[in-house]
Amino acid sequence: MAPSIDSRAAGKLPVHDLPTPEPESPRHLRPRKPYRFSTLCATVENPDMKDQYGSSSVPIYQTATFKGVAGEYDYSRSGNPTRSHLQHHIAKISSAAHAFTVSSGMAACDSILRLLKPGDEVIAGDDLYGGTNRLLTYIRTHVGVVVHHVDTTKPELLHEFLHPGKTAMVLLETPTNPLLKIVDIATISKDVKERVPDAIVVVDNTMMSPYLQRPLEHGADIVYDSATKYLSGHHDLMAGAITCNRDDIAQKLAHIVNSVGNALTPIDSFLLLRGIKTLALRMDRQQQSSQLVAEYLHDLGFVVHYPGLPDHPGAGVHQRIADGNGAVLSFETGNKELSEKIVGSTRLWGISVSFGCVNSLISMPCVMSHASIDPATRAARGLPEDLIRLCVGIEDSHDLLDDLERALIDAGAIALDPSQNKYVRVPDDSALTLAVQKLRLEGRSQPSEWFVSAPGKVILFGEHAVVHGVTAVAASVDLRCYGLATPRNDGKISVHLHDIGNLYHEWDVDSLPWDAVTPIGVGQVHPDELDQKLLNALTQRALGGIDDEQKAAKVSAMVFLYLYMILSRDEDRPTLNFSTRSTLPVSAGLGSSASYSACIATATLLVHKRITLPKLPAPASVDHIHISHQGRRAIPPATAEEINRWAFVAEKILHGNPSGVDNSVAVFGGALAYTRAGFGKKSGMESIQGFKSLKFLLTNSKVPRDTKKLVAGVGEKKANEPDLVNGILESIQSISDEARRALADPELSRDSLLTALSALMDENHRHLVTLGVSHAALETIRERTKNPYSLTTKLTGAGGGGCAVTLVPDDFKDEQLQDLIDGLIREGFQPYLTSVGGSGLGILSPYAEHRNRRSRPEHAPEGFGQVTPPDTPLPRESSSEEGNDGDLDPLRAPFVSADLAELPEWATGLGRWLYV
Ligand code: PLP
Repeated sequence: MAPSIDSRAAGKLPVHDLPTPEPESPRHLRPRKPYRFSTLCATVENPDMKDQYGSSSVPIYQTATFKGVAGEYDYSRSGNPTRSHLQHHIAKISSAAHAFTVSSGMAACDSILRLLKPGDEVIAGDDLYGGTNRLLTYIRTHVGVVVHHVDTTKPELLHEFLHPGKTAMVLLETPTNPLLKIVDIATISKDVKERVPDAIVVVDNTMMSPYLQRPLEHGADIVYDSATKYLSGHHDLMAGAITCNRDDIAQKLAHIVNSVGNALTPIDSFLLLRGIKTLALRMDRQQQSSQLVAEYLHDLGFVVHYPGLPDHPGAGVHQRIADGNGAVLSFETGNKELSEKIVGSTRLWGISVSFGCVNSLISMPCVMSHASIDPATRAARGLPEDLIRLCVGIEDSHDLLDDLERALIDAGAIALDPSQNKYVRVPDDSALTLAVQKLRLEGRSQPSEWFVSAPGKVILFGEHAVVHGVTAVAASVDLRCYGLATPRNDGKISVHLHDIGNLYHEWDVDSLPWDAVTPIGVGQVHPDELDQKLLNALTQRALGGIDDEQKAAKVSAMVFLYLYMILSRDEDRPTLNFSTRSTLPVSAGLGSSASYSACIATATLLVHKRITLPKLPAPASVDHIHISHQGRRAIPPATAEEINRWAFVAEKILHGNPSGVDNSVAVFGGALAYTRAGFGKKSGMESIQGFKSLKFLLTNSKVPRDTKKLVAGVGEKKANEPDLVNGILESIQSISDEARRALADPELSRDSLLTALSALMDENHRHLVTLGVSHAALETIRERTKNPYSLTTKLTGAGGGGCAVTLVPDDFKDEQLQDLIDGLIREGFQPYLTSVGGSGLGILSPYAEHRNRRSRPEHAPEGFGQVTPPDTPLPRESSSEEGNDGDLDPLRAPFVSADLAELPEWATGLGRWLYV
């Protein structure tokens, strides 16, 4: 009998000795050949585990414990005879020395990822099974493992991420699902071993099963399968299998599986063992039919993804590493509605997620298995919305083809051509229309107007203390700066800063000091230092016309010109007006400058075509586009990072030495924890994942403040009373840590979170009072919210006047809130009800099908649209030249004249916003 996992973990690790074929016998003249795969599958035998009664099928040892102290087995979590048989069998068919079976494919993946420790780096495919991605995100955020998602179909792309001493694991999947992309596991394993010998190569082999692909033979260190699929074959159990050859890895895995307790139950082990006996038989039939189905669809002219087709781009690599093409394929019809009709018209093909079963299944990944991936990511991965996935079973292939053909006919995808006496593909009008539209979109130049917006921020915890190395927690507020870039065709550029002294200024584009600019090329980053030559030239030769009194407006105009000029490309100088409006109070410590910087950076990057937006599918119906969160996370991370880098440059022009927190919140939204460098501990910014949006009342005391003086005051106090201040700083650090933990804790109930936050806010405020940065006005706001409303308020930002934040519980009555707001207004304060932790930067989608036609606000005043200044030409004039969609109303006029209170709703109603 094989020893239990416990004893393996203790070091007595056996190597499965793969006992078939039997040793050559001298009595036979003709030596035995090794058994072929299907024979191995059907022959469940382990000479070390002979059954006492000679049972032909492995019995189910349905027991948790075993009697005695010296036996091989003591407890089924650690080892069970039925499972041992199964593991031996799986090792045998997988060219493996060791095998483990656990409760699901994800449990297998989880057990393997537990080999990692904080700080380790993982390189993973960018097109993995969604559950794997979800788990990787979890360990990234909870364990501190760094994950690089890379297009693993190109082995050379992994090189730059292979860091000796850091890279601990490379996680691959091939073919991918549902696009059947091929990853060369042999080449990648070789590269990894050469460059980072300690890194482990892990392969998810679910799509192939050991019958068709044994990655251990190609250099992988660990292979796992969702045995729920082909290994079991009947969709009647969940299981995961892990195999490896290295004893050291097996030892660790044995320890993990035993510690976690996710090993497969005896009954499921029995069922899986039974399923495996027919693996080869089932797969032969399934892939034979798959080839027929793939060729049938391909001949009809559909785009078919299947490595068995000669035009599949990965066919060569796949044939080198695999013994067959599998039984999953996908195809595109060119039209999502048509695909839906086809899927709905099949009878034999069951509509279901998953694959690997003896029954044939049909699905639309974008609507089903991959619906949890947001449309932008799907689009970025090139996952067509009309894709149909077929998982071929063991039914008679005639019946399968017949059912599919009927469905294609019923859906109108194919029709009988009497002249050829065969079914041919029907040119689909709407598919054609879509294709034409797509071409138009791709072929046209950038749209005429770019409308962007970015949130402000509040510091929830740790202000002032952050200067002395304590972690601060900042979050986005749903008060925003809006920026609209509208083209001009009169050779001029202009800015209109509605909320910064209503400054309007324009320049002849050729009159700008172009001789002083050193443009930063595409892909290059701005140096740490600002370009002083350009700043001086702008001050002297471009901004002279703006009154020195308008200091804030002048430096804001400087930011616009600086970014516009340094980002320009190849003498291409698009002319435009850039208007901004803000629902954020300006200069109230709520990050208005960062949100302005994010808007400027985005608009100038867009105008200079240095960033492009993903082509998202059109919404199913126009009604949907009012749902503002629909476009969430549609801006790809790399684009957001590029914008953030330039927003930081803008912040530098405005503030000299910004921390980078405000612009990061303005671009990424949500919440983040920030610790300054230089205090001997871990510094930098980390986003707080899972932050739940909270309702806050933000009250501007309208008392002017001097941040520099307040910060200096705390510094002086620290010098004079070091014990007191250091004690406070330590307490604030614990407050920030605790808040961060609570905000990211998915288990914490909403009530407990609100109670914890309110206690922490109170405590933090009291420390700020001791540091001397509160102010009579802030204390009044605190008092008004506490009595009679029992709400907690703390100052936010620098204090000394400035703003206060009041946490508003979810069940706080609207009438009470209104009373409170009215009372605060009566006392001369300016309250804003806002949510905290919402989306970051937004861009109104330029694609006509995402936009509402009417841009006029609901309650637009009489004479709406007649605005002065400035009378720059409206985009409609240029739209015909540019081939733009003339149906869209230009936004400039309504943007300028919309009531500020109506602005957010109006902006949202314009159509789909793409958010970071
Ligand atoms: N890996 C792949 C490729 C899968 O398709 C799946 C499930 O669909 C899994 C892993 C997870 O397996 P399970 O559902 O058994 O946990």
